[in-house]
Amino acid sequence: MCAVPSGRVHNLINIATYSVLAAGVLLATRQHLLTVTPAQALNFTLGFFAGTFLLSPDLDLAEGRVDSKRRWGLLGFLWVPYGMLSSHRGLSHTWVVGPLTRLAYLAVIAALLLGLLRFVWPHFPLPGLPQPFSFKVLLPLLLGYYLSQWLHLIADGVRPDHGMRHVRRKVRGRG
Ligand SMILES: [Zn+2]
Repeated sequence: MCAVPSGRVHNLINIATYSVLAAGVLLATRQHLLTVTPAQALNFTLGFFAGTFLLSPDLDLAEGRVDSKRRWGLLGFLWVPYGMLSSHRGLSHTWVVGPLTRLAYLAVIAALLLGLLRFVWPHFPLPGLPQPFSFKVLLPLLLGYYLSQWLHLIADGVRPDHGMRHVRRKVRGRG
């Protein structure tokens, strides 16, 4: 059995990294080496902690009991299909597509819920996107999110070419 860090260890690693990074950015800002606006810092932080606590790659185990599902509270069951669809440490644990699968899944679930709400209550207001919804807002959010995911993968010992190796192995196995 290989030693895979538990949810708690992942959280500690991510929080520690965030603290070091935040201290570094603060220092660099003071030295005028870097300009980070409060909004950028906030969005990065939001993305990072959402990725750490709510959108962890280990949601691929959501058909069972897993920390990242428990944090969703009553809404945890929403991740069960994701857990059933993804094999543990499969696509969910790839560097580029893996984090996207969780965002896409979340978008689908949100759209379904909204559709249901509108069906039951036709006048339910559609949430508007925050204005201005620009790349400047999105970039730090995505950066924070991806960094949180990559720290998880590094701690799991998953290399950036994981997905490709996975596919290659499958092809070789079949051949
Ligand atoms: Zn993992």
